[in-house]
Amino acid sequence: MQNEQWKTRKVVVVGAGAVGSTFAYALAQSGLADEIVLLDVNHELVKGQVLDLSHGLPYYPNVEISVGESDDYKDAHVVVITAGAKQQSGQSRLDLLQRNAAIIEDIVDDIVAQGSEGIIVVVSNPVDVLTYLAHKRTSWERGRVIGSGTVLDSARFRYLLSKQCGVDVHNVHAYVLGEHGDSQVAAWSMTHLAGVPINEYCEHCGGCDGWEQIQSDIGEAVRRSAYHIIEYKGATTYAVGLALLRIVGAILRNERSVLTVSVPLEGEYGLINVSMGVPSIVSQNGVESIIEANLSSNEREALNASASILQESIEEVARSR
Ligand code: NAD
Repeated sequence: MQNEQWKTRKVVVVGAGAVGSTFAYALAQSGLADEIVLLDVNHELVKGQVLDLSHGLPYYPNVEISVGESDDYKDAHVVVITAGAKQQSGQSRLDLLQRNAAIIEDIVDDIVAQGSEGIIVVVSNPVDVLTYLAHKRTSWERGRVIGSGTVLDSARFRYLLSKQCGVDVHNVHAYVLGEHGDSQVAAWSMTHLAGVPINEYCEHCGGCDGWEQIQSDIGEAVRRSAYHIIEYKGATTYAVGLALLRIVGAILRNERSVLTVSVPLEGEYGLINVSMGVPSIVSQNGVESIIEANLSSNEREALNASASILQESIEEVARSR
């Protein structure tokens, strides 16, 4: 009985493909979960992934890893949805929309039917549109259905800034907002190195010429990252796995971490009827609240443009039904 009480942290991963399995592997090594359950319509694949992951049990902190069923949603603390078709080389995330919307809504219906009290983290693309649709479908309170948003993009942004500035990535605080996709916004006005705003830091450092061009190149490199990786190796896996670990860890440990997850907006940043990556406080309840940063006028405009693109996609799905 005591053993049962200790087993409280259960994570269900739907979709045991490249992203789902890499996340499960990172989660198993982290010791953050007591139970990891994988589901996939491809029964052979999920069996193989669970067997392979389970052979690492002697080397992980204690954890149970198994193939699951829909009724595993009932007592899951977090359900991470990575199921669906993936982006092909040269294909935009929005092209995936119609196909993945139907898949995600079916999964969400199952989760709701099981009476889940957990948090849903949508990862499948286009993640912002699917998060919005999933939230609507559940009718749960806002914050319990979130998307991975621009957490991964923000990591890519921090990595590139750290290389450019020659400063430890852990001392670079930077956020990408808006769509996890082509219209994303690198929020330079929120970028700090060890508490110093990036432009001030640059004045003292004086280490690079043509800062405006460098900013533009970094923004573009972050935006294009996934396309390059998909061209090289067919899928993005490791960094997204770790970004998901960061989000799920914040939920399981009730951390109240600030992460740019995708969350339906209700007037924040002057926006409604859209879900997108914004700095949010993430706890055991999902998103507790949204932080409204004082963005520059250019960034505000870019965020509005990003929201419009996402809203068009949401309307496109509605029209096609
Ligand atoms: P993948 O093809 O390797 O895996 C997807 C898996 O989903 C497959 O194993 C498939 O059998 C399974 N699946 C399909 N329909 C299902 C259903 N109804 N129920 C359960 N499983 C089902 O793809 P991947 O590379 O793992 O990518 C998964 C998704 O994650 C894609 O949509 C991709 O674009 C997205 N992605 C998002 C981010 C992000 O930051 N949000 C990053 C990388 C990838």
